[in-house]
Amino acid sequence: MVGAGLAGSEAAWTLARAGVPVDLVEMKPVRRSPVQRLDGFAELVCSNSLRSDDPLNAVGLLHEELRQAGSLVLSCADETRVPAGGALAVDRAAFSALVTDRLSREPLVRVERAEVEKLPEGPGLAILATGPLTSDPLAAALAALVGPGLAFYDAIAPVVTDESIDRTVAFAASRWGKGEGADYLNLPMDAAAYQAFVAALLAADKVVPHGFEEPRYFEGCLPIEVMAERGLDTLRHGPMKPVGLDDPRTGRWPHAVVQLRREDLAGTAWNLVGFQTRLTWPEQQRIFREFIPGLASAEFQRLGQVHRNTFVDAPRVLSPDQSLRARPDLFLAGQITGVEGYVESAGSGLMAARAVLDRLAGRPFRPPPATTALGALHRHVTGVAHPEGLAFQPSNVVFALFPPLDGRRRGKGERKQAYAERARKDLKEWIE
Ligand SMILES: Cc1cc2nc3c(=O)[nH]c(=O)nc-3n(C[C@H](O)[C@H](O)[C@H](O)COP(=O)(O)OP(=O)(O)OC[C@H]3O[C@@H](n4cnc5c(N)ncnc54)[C@H](O)[C@@H]3O)c2cc1C
Repeated sequence: MVGAGLAGSEAAWTLARAGVPVDLVEMKPVRRSPVQRLDGFAELVCSNSLRSDDPLNAVGLLHEELRQAGSLVLSCADETRVPAGGALAVDRAAFSALVTDRLSREPLVRVERAEVEKLPEGPGLAILATGPLTSDPLAAALAALVGPGLAFYDAIAPVVTDESIDRTVAFAASRWGKGEGADYLNLPMDAAAYQAFVAALLAADKVVPHGFEEPRYFEGCLPIEVMAERGLDTLRHGPMKPVGLDDPRTGRWPHAVVQLRREDLAGTAWNLVGFQTRLTWPEQQRIFREFIPGLASAEFQRLGQVHRNTFVDAPRVLSPDQSLRARPDLFLAGQITGVEGYVESAGSGLMAARAVLDRLAGRPFRPPPATTALGALHRHVTGVAHPEGLAFQPSNVVFALFPPLDGRRRGKGERKQAYAERARKDLKEWIE
């Protein structure tokens, strides 16, 4: 097992629990990518949220499926969660420490801290789960086998310290009162403040990523300044959406809002929700302090950054069991296969481990049923759910990847309910 991120940790756990000995090789702390800070496994590099925990949402359904499958990632997330409305967010340091501890205590897992520079050459089977920031020598070795890697850009959001937030400006509330009702801090903006902020973003200095003339971003995680370029109200309909957030001082929703989500249970630091950015660091500090009410004295624990994010052309280079067509003894798992997101990567790790178990047992791979959230991810990387004629692109788990429901007309809520019920019924047998 190469890489102890979300996918590698989940896969190593699944295999060990099934009685298979695993050598787990992780490059930290010998080497680390520019976004990594912790030495532990399963590090969440940007947001500390595993997104919606509502099973009527595709990612919430994936949470439910992973819990049923005995997932290490989900159980550690549940134990280290912080209040975040309807989302499953965690204390990232406690989460990583718990995953590391559980794996380190697993008798069948032998941990080695080293950078793997070549493709593993048996004996035995190997899973590469080295993620979107796979280190250069290994990425080159993989490219030599399957052709050049595909790539897009992913950005991370800043974090501010609690004591530097002006509490006379911020109000505590979760959207529509979800969770404990007041899990987020909200920094309200009126129309004039919002327009000034957008104008400042458009004029700001940005870091130009190397290696690409026209950087391509993941649509689900666009930098704020790219959103600002798409129109004045784009941010107000995205991460700065005020809907469902009553300001207790006015009894109304503000014009726009910057939401802060707790980084840890004690609330010593807060993440600017959806504020991934590639503004230069001096510009981030200047603009956020000057134009976001309540952040005038903000102390930044981390600033936003942008990174190249590599994945393979999975439908072309992978077999349905996630092994490489060119090297059937090597499996891929996680974001490198073209799934996007922490939870999806954990799900991909689970599937790769189950594929290895099938291989070791000498039986054909049994993919999860297509109607489940895990099956939807499988359909995506095998290309089944991918629009014909379009280049393969990474995807989060969304209901659009599921096979259509029967033709009966349904409202939106009823449709989500139908997806969830069908998935639950079909997953049970696969898990067992
Ligand atoms: C800048 C950026 C921001 C992101 N923001 C978000 C977000 O907000 N929310 C979200 O859901 N997803 C986000 N992602 C995607 C996120 O990285 C993935 O969802 C998830 O971490 C992928 O899991 P993984 O297990 O495939 O890879 P990772 O979690 O990255 O794990 C890979 C592991 O392999 C190790 N490794 C790499 N190369 C080697 C080597 N040669 N030898 C040994 N070990 C190696 C790494 O150290 C790492 O521990 C972001 C990605 C990037 C790059």
